[in-house]
Amino acid sequence: DRMRPDGAEAITIAVANFKGGVTKTTTALTLAQGLSIRGHKVLVIDCDPQGSLTTLFGILPDAEVEAQDTILPLCLGEQDSIEYAIRGTYFDGIDLVPATSLLFSAEFALPGRQRDEGSSFQFWNVLHYGIDLARQHYDAIVIDTPPSLSYVTINAMMAADGLITPLPPNALDFASSVQFWDLFYDLTKELGSRGRNKKFDFVNVLLSKVDSSDIASNVVREWISAAYGAKVLSIEIPKTATAASASAEFGSIYDMKPGSASSRTIKRAVDAYDQFVDAVEAQMVSAWLRQTTPTETS
Ligand code: ADP
Ligand code: MG
Repeated sequence: DRMRPDGAEAITIAVANFKGGVTKTTTALTLAQGLSIRGHKVLVIDCDPQGSLTTLFGILPDAEVEAQDTILPLCLGEQDSIEYAIRGTYFDGIDLVPATSLLFSAEFALPGRQRDEGSSFQFWNVLHYGIDLARQHYDAIVIDTPPSLSYVTINAMMAADGLITPLPPNALDFASSVQFWDLFYDLTKELGSRGRNKKFDFVNVLLSKVDSSDIASNVVREWISAAYGAKVLSIEIPKTATAASASAEFGSIYDMKPGSASSRTIKRAVDAYDQFVDAVEAQMVSAWLRQTTPTETS
């Protein structure tokens, strides 16, 4: 069940937003599993020193992961290709590059190298180049990021073909997401891309933790669609204790065993995520077409 055409590479998808608690990690895990269930080979990269995604894969970041098993050696320039850090997971078809709290030192290493190595070094493209080979071996590379516009987050976004911003429809989360995008675009203009904004194949805003009984969220939803327009996916992820208990059991809703919550709530959450994964998969297929179709030069 492989749809990636010959000559096409993995579509790299970063899950990013300014804030913690907006379901970035849940979204990254569920997307990776959903794509894997659909027959895609997926590499997941945990870029958050908190290692939440690593934990959801049943690996304890600070007991079972060494700094050299993370993207840190890439950031330090000790390695230039991510293969050294890739390990299998319990989930068929998903490989993982884990994180541990020591990954935080990348925030000092990257600007340090920029000073030492000057313009021959691009601190924002370390991950982009580091996954060059891996792109040929996977259908999708899903990157989870820390809740900040850190050096590592910038690397994840610059490496990405597609971006997903999970966003609960409440006023403060909305306001900080707008700051996030403004800052990111200001930054990418400075970083090269020849003075232009970085281009993505797709940018999705995923409304998540949506509580349909919360009237205030309707107003915020209007702000969100005014600000992000067609980027807002029509699928919404409902707020449900099921999703929260799935992570308490170290997994996603795709791992929920029948009986661990009412089957109706599981089904509602699974249906929403299935539609989300379908929407992302469709955008991956379009991106593959663009990769394999010769473009006119302008
Ligand atoms: P982030 O990575 O942005 O910090 P997480 O994915 O860790 O966010 O999610 C934050 C919290 O929200 C977790 O406790 C998680 O279990 C919970 N959560 C995730 N999805 C849902 C949902 N659909 N409804 C309710 N709670 C959710
Ligand atoms: Mg997280």
